Amino acid sequence: MATPHDVIHHADYFQLDASLSPEFLDLRDRIRVFGDEHILPVINEHWERAELPTAVLEPLAELGVVGTYIPDYGCPGLSRLGAGIVAREFGRIDGSINTFLGVHSNLAMGSIYLLGSEEQRQRWLPEMARMAKTGAFALSEPAHGSDSVSLETSARREGDTWVLNGHKRWIGNGHAADRTVVYARDVVDGEAKVFVVEKQPDGTFSPGYRPTPIVGKLAKGAIVQADIIIDNVVVPEENRLVHCESFAGVTRVLNAT
Ligand SMILES: Cc1cc2nc3c(=O)[nH]c(=O)nc-3n(C[C@H](O)[C@H](O)[C@H](O)COP(=O)(O)OP(=O)(O)OC[C@H]3O[C@@H](n4cnc5c(N)ncnc54)[C@H](O)[C@@H]3O)c2cc1C
Repeated sequence: MATPHDVIHHADYFQLDASLSPEFLDLRDRIRVFGDEHILPVINEHWERAELPTAVLEPLAELGVVGTYIPDYGCPGLSRLGAGIVAREFGRIDGSINTFLGVHSNLAMGSIYLLGSEEQRQRWLPEMARMAKTGAFALSEPAHGSDSVSLETSARREGDTWVLNGHKRWIGNGHAADRTVVYARDVVDGEAKVFVVEKQPDGTFSPGYRPTPIVGKLAKGAIVQADIIIDNVVVPEENRLVHCESFAGVTRVLNAT
């Protein structure tokens, strides 16, 4: 008689996997084994405590899927199908780990890859591919979710720096990330621009970056979303992703993800 474990491993109700080549079946199976070994044994207790199982990060980097569709910079350069299999398989193991990976790997790293200069990609992506640094993606605001095109967080240029002010909400890993990709509206031209807000060398947040974990969620227990006050956060011009001049940049990242 099939055990619940067997059912999880063999259920393919729409026979989708019949169309996968051996290369993609191998990717699927590597992720399933990874889930069995590293996620399933610890995930329930982490859900209960509302904590990310950070011990998973190093083996996750070794699995070779971080950065999914990004070629180079230590990322695997998967096809759309490969990236979809990564999302599907992590989704079936645990929705919170899947969300963490989507945020870190596709939204944060994806912003840097799609909107950053070559120098900015080299500066940030390899460490993130190794999970030596984690990322967050701060677009949503308390009053702007589906309509994030109306974002109100402001960016004011002062010499070689920018000063950010605003309020972000529901930001996955935003309470812990080493690098938060923050979308803000330039007060001069009114267009959306994007900035990488980094932790300081001593591991503390940039002054004025004040995250509070959102508690009481009913789902995705093992990833924390943060409410973030951004109060006169100063970011150097070199941390503005140079290829985002309008909301079209955000759309590129969301479409790719
Ligand atoms: C678990 C979780 C993780 C998240 N992680 C991140 C993150 O890492 N970074 C980030 O920036 N954001 C994140 N978000 C925010 C997410 O992007 C927003 O919740 C989402 O965009 C919806 O916005 P909202 O919550 O303000 O809802 P609203 O936009 O207020 O929508 C509420 C309801 O109204 C409907 N609706 C909205 N507009 C219309 C319309 N024009 N016509 C018809 N129906 C409409 C929606 O479908 C929905 O059912 C996260 C959210 C959650 C819950």
